[in-house]
Amino acid sequence: MEQPPCWQCNKKYTGLFCAHCNALQCPVDDYYSVFGMERKLSLDVQALQAKFYELSRLLHPDRFTRRSPLERQYSLEASSLLNKGYRVLRNPVQRAEYVLKKEGFDIGEQGTKDVPPELLEEVFELNMALEELKMGDQQARGAVEEARQRFAAMRDEIDRELEQLFQQWDEKHERATLQQIRGLLNRRRYIHNLVTEVENVATLSN
Ligand SMILES: [Zn+2]
Repeated sequence: MEQPPCWQCNKKYTGLFCAHCNALQCPVDDYYSVFGMERKLSLDVQALQAKFYELSRLLHPDRFTRRSPLERQYSLEASSLLNKGYRVLRNPVQRAEYVLKKEGFDIGEQGTKDVPPELLEEVFELNMALEELKMGDQQARGAVEEARQRFAAMRDEIDRELEQLFQQWDEKHERATLQQIRGLLNRRRYIHNLVTEVENVATLSN
């Protein structure tokens, strides 16, 4: 992303601080840009964390008490973006949703309640077992636990597929890959909600 030149020395730079005069710049509303990173889906979370701590130190309010009001304002805005960005980027699912949004995809929650057709039968059976368990039929517990494991394994499988698609997009930047990722994320959201619901019912019926 092209940034305007430094407000203080008018030279070109990338990142939060000017490389020439070290003045803090008006932060761009983009988490990757705040971290000074390329927009990539595969991300080294440990490197992200190190960068987060480094920038948190550099943006600490104590460092700006004698700077101009403009830079103090920038430091507050940048800190806020840094904190939000860290929360989103360190989580692969949230990171992918963020990139999809930035790339112009609509990622609403619609469709979350629709059962993926290939899961209809299994979800139907699971719901029956859940109902029985809620009514106090402890014999349903085995079937519920088995279903929980199966759906949790599906979620793990989706996470592996996502990892591959992340690498693919980072290499080729093809829109079709993002479309596939969006589809997988919807499926993942559905299955994740299902696993969470099963875990809640199983705990409550103990
Ligand atoms: Zn400068």
